[in-house]
Amino acid sequence: MKHPGEGRYDKEKMPDGLKKISPSTAYEKITDVDLSQLYAEGRRLVLLDVDNTLMHWGADEIPGDVRAWVQGGKALGVSFCILSNTNRPERLMRIAGSLGVEALRGKNKPSRQMYEQAMSDHGVEHDQTIMIGDQLLTDVLGANRTGIDAIWLRPLSKKEFLGTRLISRVVERVLGVMLADYFLPVKGEQKRSFFQSESARQFVKFLLVGGTSFVIDYSLTMTFWKGVYIQGARLGDTMGEAGLSAMPWLVGVGGATAREAGFRISKAIGAGTAIVFSFLLNRKWTFKISGKEDRSRQFVKFFTVAGTGMLLNVSLSSWFLQILPFDETNNGRIGIILATGMVAVWNFTGQKLFAFRKAHG
Ligand SMILES: [Mg+2]
Repeated sequence: MKHPGEGRYDKEKMPDGLKKISPSTAYEKITDVDLSQLYAEGRRLVLLDVDNTLMHWGADEIPGDVRAWVQGGKALGVSFCILSNTNRPERLMRIAGSLGVEALRGKNKPSRQMYEQAMSDHGVEHDQTIMIGDQLLTDVLGANRTGIDAIWLRPLSKKEFLGTRLISRVVERVLGVMLADYFLPVKGEQKRSFFQSESARQFVKFLLVGGTSFVIDYSLTMTFWKGVYIQGARLGDTMGEAGLSAMPWLVGVGGATAREAGFRISKAIGAGTAIVFSFLLNRKWTFKISGKEDRSRQFVKFFTVAGTGMLLNVSLSSWFLQILPFDETNNGRIGIILATGMVAVWNFTGQKLFAFRKAHG
């Protein structure tokens, strides 16, 4: 059931942006891969990752069942070649030697270099070759770039090479959580694919709208607060002073200075613009409400949710501005980011379950 078309996972149905990091098949562990089936499909060369694929990260012993799986493949006439990004080549050679297979340590995956070298060493074509590994951004991406199929395995352990760049580790982890359930077959249950589920689609769209709103919010806030000078005076300060004398009960709450009041006003401008933008996009695009259906009530509900969210956002971010231990600019920046993340959760829940809830019956 794990082959495209048979199960719920079909690489061809993945969004174009994710195809390059999408495997053609996925399994829980390497010994689940049926080598006689691969052989029957014409595969003659299996490329292997080491860490978290053949064995736990950094381990020295290959488990007996994995060893038997490799020997079984060799008996069928399948060749193996390990492609590794390791910085411990002597360990790699020891592992390869003990399995009696070849290993390459060339230009790091996802470069095509090791994949191509392995194919030419073995004299096989792309469709006779398949890659097995646990990392989407190295093993799978490299295979797809080379034009060969890849099998993805859930990583054996969460431990990994410390030098793996933080950003790719975060991306792997997020993708792993998001996609593992999607790649891997579920026994006795025909789940809809991840991207076919309405909530997942809504959530992804909400995040895109939210991300764009955040950029709008952040850049407007910082521009109004720190980026505009009129006759040598910072607009943020001028607005803060004006706000303090006009509405001290609102912008001066907690004994704010003119600069802090200016931040609150700038934040209100940024967040307010972002709210209008996200209402329009979330209504039409994320929650697909068309026409005038219930629009005014949705408008009121949306603004109840978003307005509460905005108050939360302004108070949380000005609170962070006052309590964070960094300098003023960084307190402002980090405060915006933290508050926006918290308020995003509030907003999605409120929009989905309250403002844009479809009428039933
Ligand atoms: Mg690995």
